[in-house]
Amino acid sequence: MRSCILIPMPIICSDWMIYGPFLHASKVRFRVTAVQKPPLEFATFFDYVFQLQHLGYGIPQIQLIEFTGPFDVFGNEIVPVHVIHGKTEVFGFRIGKFAYVTDCKKIPVTSMAMLEGLEVLVLGALRWEPEHWIHMTIPESLDVVDELRPKQTYLTHMMHTVEHTETNRKLPQNVQLAYDGLVVEV
Ligand SMILES: [Zn+2]
Repeated sequence: MRSCILIPMPIICSDWMIYGPFLHASKVRFRVTAVQKPPLEFATFFDYVFQLQHLGYGIPQIQLIEFTGPFDVFGNEIVPVHVIHGKTEVFGFRIGKFAYVTDCKKIPVTSMAMLEGLEVLVLGALRWEPEHWIHMTIPESLDVVDELRPKQTYLTHMMHTVEHTETNRKLPQNVQLAYDGLVVEV
């Protein structure tokens, strides 16, 4: 597979997530990944999207995909990877040798196995300290990187206290902070 993917953060923090890579890949159409529940919460957060009278004012055209396992987007297999986000279970995604796993506190052993052999991992890392009950800190994310050993990792989902240049200097060369506009070729 050879395609470029833009990596912003997920737009909402919930069971229901709009994932950035799909926003870019689809150009004109949002892909929304979802599981189990009906899209009630999503429809509440983004009610304007579903109010047809607003059409013509830049309303995204959304296609809800309910998945129970790997699914296809533009000919690419997307493999959902279950992760723990506080009390909620959410999903990261693996696409070939690329994986997008943000907004999580723990990656279960079975999911870690699904993330082996990556070239690029995008991983959530909130801050250096203190610990957070929903999100991994930078040291916790580095522990995950140590175990998975992807060729390159980009940390994302940081808060404002994480200074970019200084943090990158402290991180190993194969682990750097993501930034707006970063494009990764996989
Ligand atoms: Zn979160």
